[in-house]
Amino acid sequence: MQKPAPEITKQSEPFWQACKDGRLLIMNCKHCGRPFFYPRRSCPSCWSEEVEWIESKGTGTIWTLSEVAISLWGDAWEDTVPYTVAVIDLDEGVRMASRLVGNSGWKIGDRVHVSFQPGENDVVMPYFTAAG
Ligand SMILES: [Zn+2]
Repeated sequence: MQKPAPEITKQSEPFWQACKDGRLLIMNCKHCGRPFFYPRRSCPSCWSEEVEWIESKGTGTIWTLSEVAISLWGDAWEDTVPYTVAVIDLDEGVRMASRLVGNSGWKIGDRVHVSFQPGENDVVMPYFTAAG
């Protein structure tokens, strides 16, 4: 059964295209210089609309995590559970929700880096795996 894919909008399209190219993008405010994520039309700190995409190093630390053991979103996810979701503190100072792959025994504070994985409908997902 096919899983739902992220909805790609005009605003989020650069993010998803960069994932296909193996690059993780976040946003930056050209007015106050603060990075932010998720993508928005205006800066959440100063409301300036002078915002731009910048490339993240793709490295960070697990801020929190949870193991998903039940397919809460329907039958499409039955073959995927269990999996681990996490909020990552990227080194640029923004938080990103994602999934952890390729390991187990994750702990808050573990270092991770982005790992691009194929998703549904040719979308490439920015998951995270153990750094090092
Ligand atoms: Zn700003």
